[in-house]
Amino acid sequence: MNRWTLVLVLGLFVSIALESLTRVVNADHLDFLPGLPTPAIQNLLQDGERTFCVNAAANSYPNFVSQLQQTYDSQQAKLGNGNRQILGTFETVQAAGTAGCENWWNGRYDAFCSGCACSIHYAAWPIQTNVKLSLGYVDFRSCQGHEEGHAHGLHEQYKDSGGSIACTQRLDTVMDCGSGVWELQPRDVNLICDLYGVAGDHFHACAPTPPPCDPCWNPVTERWVFSDGRSFHPNSGCGEWFSAKNTKEWSVCAYNWDADPDLDGRFNEVMGDWVAVGASGSFYHDETGEWLSLVVP
Ligand SMILES: [Zn+2]
Repeated sequence: MNRWTLVLVLGLFVSIALESLTRVVNADHLDFLPGLPTPAIQNLLQDGERTFCVNAAANSYPNFVSQLQQTYDSQQAKLGNGNRQILGTFETVQAAGTAGCENWWNGRYDAFCSGCACSIHYAAWPIQTNVKLSLGYVDFRSCQGHEEGHAHGLHEQYKDSGGSIACTQRLDTVMDCGSGVWELQPRDVNLICDLYGVAGDHFHACAPTPPPCDPCWNPVTERWVFSDGRSFHPNSGCGEWFSAKNTKEWSVCAYNWDADPDLDGRFNEVMGDWVAVGASGSFYHDETGEWLSLVVP
């Protein structure tokens, strides 16, 4: 069997007992779902974007779409991947997939998972997430965030061994239930990054923090900016130096020691004069109210 034909259905359960589980998974201690990377994850690694769409029932449910957008925006901020709603309403998963939708939110809930608020076919392409709107929730974000956690490969964290399930209200993960947590928590982000945060991919937030820079290159001003606020603009000559208040300190330079020792230095724009190599000190500039370096760079 092709591994991608494997379609697993996971539900976010709101009731304690579920009597007709067709597939009981002991998920109490697993971090990741089987069958990874799914087609949706493979696609995300290619284009760095999650696309989603809804059917008419979900579209007309009060605040469902705006909450869904909040959920995707939050995940985007934590993972670095983009998101985009495919506008319009789609009544079949096939139509959603044809339109480029990676996750079809189906508010026309079918009853295969009687104890669930939401359930997801995470390994399918496109993903289908069913939502039981008849529960009448004012806020579906914990459901939305949980199911998108599955879409990123995370396993359940509530207790579901032995054929019964129970929320444990963990606050450190969106993959439990009963806590109201709807955003990816650091534990969740770290797990996803462990899976997919490889160099060159699109999970920018998973990349290690860049080392501190001093100087740091500013592409707008085209200057190297030092921690003391001074900056250097390289040019075809010997570059220009600026004070922390953007006063140009040093411009052209001359290294003509052999020809004329007096010209072995740089031109100071404030003083309007040449300063020889080896000179040092500082002086107060009345116009800008700052001390300027007289150390020839
Ligand atoms: Zn779940």
